Amino acid sequence: MAINIKRPNGTEDVLPKDVHKWLTVEKIVRETAENFGFGEIRIPTFENTDLFMRSVGETTDVVQKEMYTVMAKETKFTLRPEGTAGTIRAMLQNGLLNEALPQRVFYILSCFRHERPQAGRLREFHQFGLEMAGSASPCADAEVISLAKTILDRLELKNIELYINSIGCPECRAKYHEALRAYFSDRKEELCETCLSRLEKNPMRILDCKSPICGDIAKDAPLILDYLCEECSDHFEKLKGYLDTLGIEYKINPKIVRGLDYYTKTVFEFVTTEIGAQGTVCGGGRYDGLIEQLGGQKVPALGFAMGIERLLLTMEKQGCPYLTPKTCDIYFATMGEEALIKAMALAKELREYGYRAEYDVVGRGLKAQMKYANKIGASFTIVLGDNELAEGVAKLKEMESGKETAVKLDEKFCVNFDSLYIDKVMDSIEEAGGELDLGAQFGLDGHVHDEHCNCGCCKEDTDNG
Ligand code: ATP
Ligand code: MG
Repeated sequence: MAINIKRPNGTEDVLPKDVHKWLTVEKIVRETAENFGFGEIRIPTFENTDLFMRSVGETTDVVQKEMYTVMAKETKFTLRPEGTAGTIRAMLQNGLLNEALPQRVFYILSCFRHERPQAGRLREFHQFGLEMAGSASPCADAEVISLAKTILDRLELKNIELYINSIGCPECRAKYHEALRAYFSDRKEELCETCLSRLEKNPMRILDCKSPICGDIAKDAPLILDYLCEECSDHFEKLKGYLDTLGIEYKINPKIVRGLDYYTKTVFEFVTTEIGAQGTVCGGGRYDGLIEQLGGQKVPALGFAMGIERLLLTMEKQGCPYLTPKTCDIYFATMGEEALIKAMALAKELREYGYRAEYDVVGRGLKAQMKYANKIGASFTIVLGDNELAEGVAKLKEMESGKETAVKLDEKFCVNFDSLYIDKVMDSIEEAGGELDLGAQFGLDGHVHDEHCNCGCCKEDTDNG
């Protein structure tokens, strides 16, 4: 009987033909985070369930409805629904907060939430996120918002609006909660069951409810900005000033409360209307109480997370550029065992130079091999057979132009290939009117062979003096 196992609902496969899109985003977020002084952190995929209960919050959708939890022996574990809780746990457990502050870390990771799958909403999705711990200044808020904005700009995304809000500190929040309770109590009967229980425990969560009825009731609810204490209000004013200084446009949206409980003061979202209802590509804010809540010292902190799938959906929609995937640089078509062995040796050497070299590993005939070379878009091909081996010379064919050059199959083969390769690059730059497209010419790592590139070829050059 044929087995018919499909991937679980709400998960996605990324195939080799699409992986360059992911690599584009990952490269740009990494580089930008590093430019801003952030170091990469890697944390476990699952944590003790308690960690999320205590940080994300027991009245949030994430904890109430969306967590994947397993009971293993006596302990409850949960697949991380987000990255902040685990990251702060790791910073505490490894003593990072005893080192020079602010500590700045970023991550690229998968998250798991049991949601209804739809465009832009998956059960396993990926986030790029970061956390900065040790600054209470609104200047830090502006810094992380500016980092997010830099990434969106470098990805060449357009029409993404930045919304900011302040949800105050526990002090202003207490007064606000009272006002919300008074407001929602009048229409208690109409609220969904979850919101009804939120009314007592955490009425601000009602504003984040996805039910249209609750959303409609919440339309005229009191606004947090009218309840901010002097310190929180001052913080928000200063942030706005810094954003103006940085030339970052924003809109104030007093309705943003964010889906996680740990936020204080600044919250923000970058939103596009171009990918349907799930348009928040980045969400974040300040969480001054979280570290203490998780058993650490009182260290103010903040961060954000971007949904990588939503970024990619928007990039696709807007036709944003990707780094060009590297294709095969040279394909050896071989006839006979001896030729195959020669191809293996030459390919090995070329790969040390940093080239992508391939030869037939199936045992196909010459015609089929050339067809394959064409299909994989090889830049150069070279046919090796008895004649070529006997003469020690073969024809290297540049596939696009059809131009053939005789090359010796000796110890200079790689060096000669290198210069022919560079000639080809130069020709295509000339054709493009002098425009150098690094991604297209040199592959994803932007590798230009020179004395600094540190790859096999240059090591050899210096070894040889
Ligand atoms: P939403 O309001 O869309 O449910 P959220 O407030 O639950 O988002 P966060 O927990 O702040 O989202 O996560 C940060 C980012 O991660 C979101 O802005 C979004 O880009 C992305 N994200 C969140 N949940 C999903 C999901 N289920 N599938 C894909 N991306 C997601
Ligand atoms: Mg959500």
